[in-house]
This record gives sequence, C-alpha cells and structure tokens, in this order.
Amino acid sequence: MTNIKVIKGDITTMHVDAIVNAANTTLLGGGGVDGAIHRAAGPELLAATMKLHGAQTGEAKITAGFRLPAKYVIHTPGPIWHGGNQNEAQLLHNSYFNSLTLAEQNNCHTVAFPSISTGVFHFPLSQAAKIATETLRDFLETAKTVTEVTMVCFDDTTFAAYQDALTQINL
Ligand code: ADP
Repeated sequence: MTNIKVIKGDITTMHVDAIVNAANTTLLGGGGVDGAIHRAAGPELLAATMKLHGAQTGEAKITAGFRLPAKYVIHTPGPIWHGGNQNEAQLLHNSYFNSLTLAEQNNCHTVAFPSISTGVFHFPLSQAAKIATETLRDFLETAKTVTEVTMVCFDDTTFAAYQDALTQINL
C-alpha cells in the first residue's frame, strides 16, 4: 500500500486537491488546525462555512480553499472523547469515510488529513491512528478518483503514531 503517506508538516501548505479540516460542529472556526486553516484560507472561508449551517459529528461538508494552495477544504467535526463508550470509534471512522466520499464526489485525486480528534478533542492517539489508517486503506481499495491520501502530522508524537499504525496494516 503506497497510496497512504504519513508526513510531518503543516496541512495549510499542502498542494493537494482537498485538505480536511478537523472542525467543530459549528463549522465557524476554532483553535488548533481549524484556526490555522481559517487564517491561511482568509476570511472568505468563514463566509463560506457560515452558509453551511454547521455539521453533525462524523459528517463532512465542502468549501473552496480560497487562499490555500488546496482547491477544496472538507470540514468534518470529529468526536470529542468521552471515555470510549459514546460511539467515538464509529464517529471517527465516519469522519474519515465521509470526507473521502465527498472528495470523490468532487473528483479529487489527492487528499490530506490532519490527525482528527487527537488535539483538544482528546481521542487517544494510537487508537485514532489505527481507525484512520484502516479506514483509508479500506476506502482506497475501491476508490474511483482518490489515488493518494497523506496524513499530515504536526508533531513528532503524532507522526510516530501514524507511522506505527501504517506499519501495522501493511503487515
Ligand atoms: P481536534 O479538535 O479534532 O482534536 P485539533 O486541531 O485540536 O483538533 O488537533 C488535531 C491535530 O491537528 C493535532 O495533532 C494538532 O497538533 C494538529 N494540528 C494543529 N495545527 C496543525 C496544522 N497546521 N497542520 C496539521 N496539523 C495540525
């Protein structure tokens, strides 16, 4: 499986068809990667997300990328970790799956994801990395337009966790 890549970097610099935003349910911006994406895309992004009227956890909605190098931003609120018994794993899977489905509907070939839910939403990192990489692998087996997915990790710990998870599914 060479069509899933894990890199360390800043997702706002990615030259891909779509970057995914680990948003919150308002889709009106926030901290972490969400704030970074809104700052880099410019105020046109907030104007666009205001028209979307939010999204439910695990759902995905798309806008243009505006001042970003990426053509589109796919906004998905990942689950807030409440201990693991509130459907968090399924909801995290849904965020990746629904984002990829929307990317395909918009003819995207290259997509970049941040580590959804593992920042202020506190989803345990190794479990999140496993869910993410398994969902990406399964989706790419039957994908029509998406050929390459990059996990863009912001720090060394996150980078190591996704590298480990990718090694596991390649065994
Ligand atoms: P969530 O609310 O889904 O937990 P966060 O933004 O708090 O989202 O964190 C998700 C991940 O995104 C964390 O690993 C955080 O370090 C990372 N992150 C923050 N800024 C960026 C960026 N510019 N590019 C890629 N990842 C980023």
